[in-house]
Amino acid sequence: MKKIAIYPGTFDPITLGHIDIIERSAKIFDKIIVVIGINFQKKTLFNAEERLDMIKQSLIHLNNIDIIVTDELIVNIAEKHNATTIIRGLRAVSDFDYEFQIALTNRKIRNNVDTIFMLPDEKYTYLSSTVVKEIAIYKENLSYFVNSYVANKLKEKFV
Ligand code: ADP
Repeated sequence: MKKIAIYPGTFDPITLGHIDIIERSAKIFDKIIVVIGINFQKKTLFNAEERLDMIKQSLIHLNNIDIIVTDELIVNIAEKHNATTIIRGLRAVSDFDYEFQIALTNRKIRNNVDTIFMLPDEKYTYLSSTVVKEIAIYKENLSYFVNSYVANKLKEKFV
């Protein structure tokens, strides 16, 4: 049976930290489904279509990736796509409390879906989409944080 995992997030926009986690996961699982979560309470800089396009362009070098956009509950998406695992990235201890709560909540709802935490390369442990957007406003060099495709999209937002 194929080992399928889902990697959910907002990806507003996808950073080198996200890509690092996806590349590592793609070596472990047969297929990774990147799930762009639509949360109507969360205001994003990029709409779902733009986020999908940036993820697609960023993962073109990997051949076992699917990308979907959804407003459904993540455990339902996992079940629907025969994924047994949810991947989450852990940057620092500060991520832990929140991730622990979400993982155990998901387990209460669906006991057959497990969460796995992946650590990025340490050079990405400080990196978040929020910080990247703040730096983009000041037109600083973004090459440590996002790839050139995403950097250009950010530049277009803050002309
Ligand atoms: P962010 O927290 O940057 O807004 P998302 O909601 O898109 O990110 O996060 C999706 C997943 O990716 C989460 O599990 C988050 O912890 C993880 N993640 C985000 N940035 C990084 C990074 N730099 N390194 C490792 N994991 C990350």
